[in-house]
Amino acid sequence: MDDIKITNIVKFHILFLLYQRPMHGYELMAEIEKVLGSKPSASQIYPFLSVLKKNNLIAIIEEAERDKKVYELTGRGKKFVEKKLEMFGGIIAATIEKDLTTCAHCGCKVYSGGYEEEIGGEKVTFCCMHCAGTYKGK
Ligand SMILES: [Zn+2]
Repeated sequence: MDDIKITNIVKFHILFLLYQRPMHGYELMAEIEKVLGSKPSASQIYPFLSVLKKNNLIAIIEEAERDKKVYELTGRGKKFVEKKLEMFGGIIAATIEKDLTTCAHCGCKVYSGGYEEEIGGEKVTFCCMHCAGTYKGK
């Protein structure tokens, strides 16, 4: 099942939404539209669902009286999504990490802004002005 590639954001959302609760195909489309701002086409949804079904990652629950199919992740499917989420989480964390600067004084990570000061003609970043003060006092 590792050869199921999450090659686009629509596929990612299908998995992520089904991880939260079982859904009808049209519900999936509506939810994805809410997030992405444009309606995904049926050809972006149903072929992927059938791949997931073939790999036993989802099961289809038929609602006979309303003739609707509800898609639900199987135990195997849940594990698959968890693995993918972990992977995406790792990518996101690595990306954020790369953009971080560290405080020149205490070494803590500065997520946004921070406190910059020019010392000896060079811009030095600190987490706060207190660190800058202590650093200069050294
Ligand atoms: Zn600091």
